Amino acid sequence: MTHNVIQSLLLKRFTLAAGTYGLALLLLWLALLSGHFKASVFGAALGSGLVVLSQGVLLALFLTGRNLRLRDPSLTEVQILLGLAWQTWLIAHLDSARGAFLVFYVLILLFGLFHLSRKAFVRCAALVFVSFSAVNLWEGYQFQLQDPLLAALQVCVLFVVLAWLCLYASYVQASRARMRQRRFALQAHQDTLRGMMRQLEDLVATDELTGLFNRRHFLRLASRELHTLSHGQVHGLALIDLDHFKRINDVHGHAAGDQVLQAFAAVAGACLREGDVLARYGGEEFVLLLPACDAQRLTACCERLRIAFTDVQLIGLHIHDLSLSAGMTLLELGDDLDDALHRADQALYRAKRDGRNRCAAAWESVDA
Ligand code: GH3
Ligand code: MG
Ligand code: MG
Repeated sequence: MTHNVIQSLLLKRFTLAAGTYGLALLLLWLALLSGHFKASVFGAALGSGLVVLSQGVLLALFLTGRNLRLRDPSLTEVQILLGLAWQTWLIAHLDSARGAFLVFYVLILLFGLFHLSRKAFVRCAALVFVSFSAVNLWEGYQFQLQDPLLAALQVCVLFVVLAWLCLYASYVQASRARMRQRRFALQAHQDTLRGMMRQLEDLVATDELTGLFNRRHFLRLASRELHTLSHGQVHGLALIDLDHFKRINDVHGHAAGDQVLQAFAAVAGACLREGDVLARYGGEEFVLLLPACDAQRLTACCERLRIAFTDVQLIGLHIHDLSLSAGMTLLELGDDLDDALHRADQALYRAKRDGRNRCAAAWESVDA
């Protein structure tokens, strides 16, 4: 995309250069017709032909040599140097009309204002000054200079214009460098902000103690899953509550209770597969969503979890009667999440009532 934009911009510059050279050529022929051009028609034709040829070669080089990985694939400096050489040839063949054509030096240099480095631009400007002065000095030396005072004035004016252009080019390059730096700084800020956003999103979705998803994030995820359910597809949902947790807190302290909650999160994480969603629903209650699951797999998973939890060994704590109860239900297309959670809660209540340390299924009470 960016490459295409740059290419089209460079092509536009070639078109602009071609237009300028075309105009210069037209003026050259006008100068010839009005008697201000000192070379023969053949000389003028040869000069014009060389301009067209050099521009054609440059364009072909640009179009075919894009893969050469040149720093400046449009060969700006070469294009400008060729233009300056041709312009000097033209000026050398002009009489008093020379002053009018000086403006083309400025036009040719302007092509490099944004694209040439500061040094390259000054180099080109110096070449302009030296070539024009050399033409005048040579003619003066040969006593062919019609109006030496006018020539001196032209050299001075050209010097001022070139000096101004060089200053302006440095200003443009410095501004571009500043803008580039600002863009990089802005990109760095943007990356930092994105990282912070991600951290914030994680914080908002995570329960601090266990590192599991929190209730709000779970509800969002579960509703999304429910909406993407297709016909015939079933998800498993279970509410899990640690048994006699208050007693653990009372006997061993709140910190021990926290440790049990963290141990449950670790054990459960190891029992689940990728895509299963476990969240802390509140206090010592957890909620589990198993996507694309049936009653058998949901029961097996909850049983695995229950047994694994009873085997938990806590570092520095002697609690041996850890257990949990679970209430399970199935989510189908068109189901309501609140209704499903209510069904799971009812099943959990039954599991507690029937003695705890067990998993009860909502579908069993329906069958009964
Ligand atoms: P049941 O077997 O019927 O579920 O009894 P229980 O004691 O587990 O349930 P109950 O609702 O009576 O007590 C839950 C306790 O969990 C009460 C509360 O102080 C404790 N609790 C809630 N959140 C936290 C927590 O973040 N850390 C700790 N250590 N305790 C918590
Ligand atoms: Mg409990
Ligand atoms: Mg509870």
